[in-house]
Amino acid sequence: MKRYLLPCRCSERVVVTAGQAGDEVRCPACGGRLTVPRLGGLTALEQAPAEPTPRPQWTVGHGWGLAGLLVATASLIAAVGLRSWTVGSPLVGDAEIRAAVAASDIATVHRAYRDMARSGVQRPPLPEEARNQRIFRSAEAFSWLLWAAAAGGAAVAAVAFGLARGPRQRVVDDG
Ligand SMILES: [Zn+2]
Repeated sequence: MKRYLLPCRCSERVVVTAGQAGDEVRCPACGGRLTVPRLGGLTALEQAPAEPTPRPQWTVGHGWGLAGLLVATASLIAAVGLRSWTVGSPLVGDAEIRAAVAASDIATVHRAYRDMARSGVQRPPLPEEARNQRIFRSAEAFSWLLWAAAAGGAAVAAVAFGLARGPRQRVVDDG
């Protein structure tokens, strides 16, 4: 609806709309009563600057924010789940590793463990051990990806919600 500036005796200009034509309004500055002219006289008045259109409640920024939050949440859950899986899972082929150890004599096993403790794994890993290491490394790498995705999603959400909120705050500041 178009808004017009109705001049008052006190030099204040009161904003009125066509819907108020013929009504009496009070001047916010001096409290004086003003009669809003009928449509012919009203349209002769200077037009007030357009009212700022209210921002829609749901913006693209909010969409990005929600998407970021969803990615962050899903990634966090997956990362935590993956971590508890690698920590809680028994070795793949545990029976095979036990059998290999059981087949060796005490000295061999002792040397093997002493060497491993001293300078990392010296002997070539058993196929099952290698498989376990591959699984663990893959899980670890995937876990890093998930943490990165969680951080990225959270950052996107923070920026998007910040941008979506920014202009509205400026409007409040102006008023
Ligand atoms: Zn006035």
